[in-house]
Amino acid sequence: MLPFRPNIAAMAGYVPGYQPPDVASWIKLNTNENPYPPSPEVMKAILAELGGDGALLRTYPSASSQALRETVGELYGFDPSWVIMANGSDEVLNNLIRAFAGEGEEVGYIHPSYSYYATLAEIQGARVRTFGLTDDFRIAGFPDRYEGKLFFLTTPNSPLGFAFPLSYIEELATRCAGVLVVDEAYADFADGNALELVKKHENVVVTRTLSKSYSLAGMRLGFAVARPAVIAALDKIRDHYNLDRLAQAACVASLRDQAYFGDCTRRIRETRDWFIAEIRKLGYDVIPSQGNFVFAAPPDRNGKRIYDGLYARKILVRHFSDPLLAHGMRISIGTREEMDKTIAALKEIG
Ligand SMILES: *Cc1c(COP(=O)(O)O)cnc(C)c1O
Repeated sequence: MLPFRPNIAAMAGYVPGYQPPDVASWIKLNTNENPYPPSPEVMKAILAELGGDGALLRTYPSASSQALRETVGELYGFDPSWVIMANGSDEVLNNLIRAFAGEGEEVGYIHPSYSYYATLAEIQGARVRTFGLTDDFRIAGFPDRYEGKLFFLTTPNSPLGFAFPLSYIEELATRCAGVLVVDEAYADFADGNALELVKKHENVVVTRTLSKSYSLAGMRLGFAVARPAVIAALDKIRDHYNLDRLAQAACVASLRDQAYFGDCTRRIRETRDWFIAEIRKLGYDVIPSQGNFVFAAPPDRNGKRIYDGLYARKILVRHFSDPLLAHGMRISIGTREEMDKTIAALKEIG
């Protein structure tokens, strides 16, 4: 018998959304990727970093990703000492648990939201407590004083798409004895964000990703904004060369091209709002969305039937077998053409 830690032996492991091998033959609306390519500046920066012969790849990248911290800080109005870069925001979520939640200590999050928090907590041997949602999208039964070490708040929520109001997030920050992690993976598609709370409350951490809004899921880039004391702790924990050279080059180029970014996110929001109106005409129940996806339920509330019908037509969406979610599907927002085809397919399926 190999001496696995009991929590590792007992855990199932996270199952990410399906990535079909023949990806080009699908309309892929299942993992909230961006349908548009990254800024053309990204390719230029990567090629420049590679040079003619890739000689720079012999050498380690910047350990601190300092130029990236400065770019993020400038963009959002924070000193670089309030920023840490991550190899995907998943990395920083993991390191937050490692920094704050020891063996047997409690980590909280909302179900439904991002279940990867539970996987990360299980690896650490931390205890997980989930909270449900009320009908008006508040946390059901959240205590006046929440004593868990960390609480993960996904806003905009995935898979449902709604965002919590800033005043409510601030109230939660004051009710958390530990750290409130505001996972803003989709904030670039929303009307607001919680960055100002990092300045007002020492226990608030905001995490972001370049995977969705900057079309860089394949580069693995994310960051967190938090008090310098939190950033310093996270810096002790992370792999010292956590971002490779090409990712660092891509990140700076991408963040600096705000014109391209603004154009892509505006198009996705417009397509989203158009798609919601169209799918409602087919009798679907849709939650107003602040992300680059929608959660929609057909009139017969059989999400799997629609998922299968779309799958047969090479349109991939996300269906969750969880009883809270099985009546609907999460559909990422692609190009207008892809969403036109999706509406046509839904009419056919009936
Ligand atoms: C996509 C996603 C992440 C992970 O982002 P990466 O930067 O790709 O690791 C984190 N949280 C939520 C809620 C997400 O949807």
